[in-house]
Amino acid sequence: MLQKVTVETKTLEDYRPIVGDGVIEEIRTLAAPLRGARVVHINPTAFGGGVAEILATLVPLMRDVGLEAEWQLIAGTDEFFNVTKSFHNGLQGMDIPLTEPMKAIWQRYNEQNALNFEGEYDFVVVHDPQPAGLLHYHGRTGGKHWIWRCHIDTSTPNPAYWEFLVPFIAQYDAGVFTAEQYVGPGLRLPHLAIIAPTIDPLSPKNQLLPPDEGRAILAHFGVDLHRPLLVQVSRFDPWKDPLGVIDAYRLVKRQVPGVQLALVGSMAHDDPEGWVFYDRTVRHAGEDFDIIILHNFHGVGNREVNAFQSLADVVIQKSTREGFGLTVSEAMWKGVPVIGGNVGGIPLQIREGETGFLVDSVEACAERTLYLLQNPEQRRAMGARGREHVRRNFLATRLLRDWLRLFRQLEG
Ligand code: UDP
Repeated sequence: MLQKVTVETKTLEDYRPIVGDGVIEEIRTLAAPLRGARVVHINPTAFGGGVAEILATLVPLMRDVGLEAEWQLIAGTDEFFNVTKSFHNGLQGMDIPLTEPMKAIWQRYNEQNALNFEGEYDFVVVHDPQPAGLLHYHGRTGGKHWIWRCHIDTSTPNPAYWEFLVPFIAQYDAGVFTAEQYVGPGLRLPHLAIIAPTIDPLSPKNQLLPPDEGRAILAHFGVDLHRPLLVQVSRFDPWKDPLGVIDAYRLVKRQVPGVQLALVGSMAHDDPEGWVFYDRTVRHAGEDFDIIILHNFHGVGNREVNAFQSLADVVIQKSTREGFGLTVSEAMWKGVPVIGGNVGGIPLQIREGETGFLVDSVEACAERTLYLLQNPEQRRAMGARGREHVRRNFLATRLLRDWLRLFRQLEG
């Protein structure tokens, strides 16, 4: 058996005051004919990174509206996850080799996990490239509809990786991508759905944090509450460009000597590269004690991330590739303006100059940061518009609705 993830209970009704009656009624109408449908979501990790974050809310909400939803994990060791990290990088376009031994490792783990997949489901939702071979090795038994949900930007993939993966993906009944342009070259599937991720406004990470609690958390981690704070929350990953964030901070510091920077990043179980890049980031920061670098082993959990995002003067997400970037919506929901890399899913969330700023370079990032630090009124207004944009487009109820719509379409 694949390992099952235990999830909390969540109640759709609790979201009514935030999203309004119309959204809740629409969800109930869509869910009614799907009552009792058996759904399983499969991915490699229950912690760290956006997919785990999304499933921790989506699975309980699917249950609350009457589906029998589950979440299961494929098993893997570093040997596998080193290869899948290369898949992740290669599929996002990085020029790295794909060797025969790497292919063999990916296939062997997928075959093994497919043997361990048990049960009967109406919808099997396989997330991302790591377990994409499950359908091929398991066969269709046990699943009526097989769906591949791709969370990364595969618009311009490294051809070696894409060509290897496509025969496995092409067997699915449906593909779900974050944006139309992410569907990689030549992929044809019977159903295609475009569904952007969302955040949970009621999770400990996103609910309103009492300001005293937030301040106590920041002080505990060494932040001086009387000086400006820039924050980036993300895994230690080259595509998230923490080194570029430090460079931008240094430019800002020339004008605002008191500025501080917190880089907060979790270590995901399926991301062995994280430690290597964490070390590089620490080296890049050097002896500057105004740069605070933290990860989950320092005790940074959801409430701590909440505190950093809520109390930042400016949040930065300077990615150079980004499937979606949940951290952008998370910060916007807290009314804090975000300066994001002009890539991937970030422009879906940030409307340039309205709900944040989009940047392509260290210099632009520094310039926009300075502008926001020096214009508190603009900062507040932009933050408020950002929060409203997230309320309308990027809260978990919208994700639930889109999945229910897709399930209804597949059931015909
Ligand atoms: N995250 C966290 N703690 C950290 C760093 C990140 O909980 O120290 C969370 C972050 O709040 C977000 C998710 O991990 O919910 C990252 O998702 P995103 O889509 O931004 O990036 P991904 O890691 O999936 O590439």
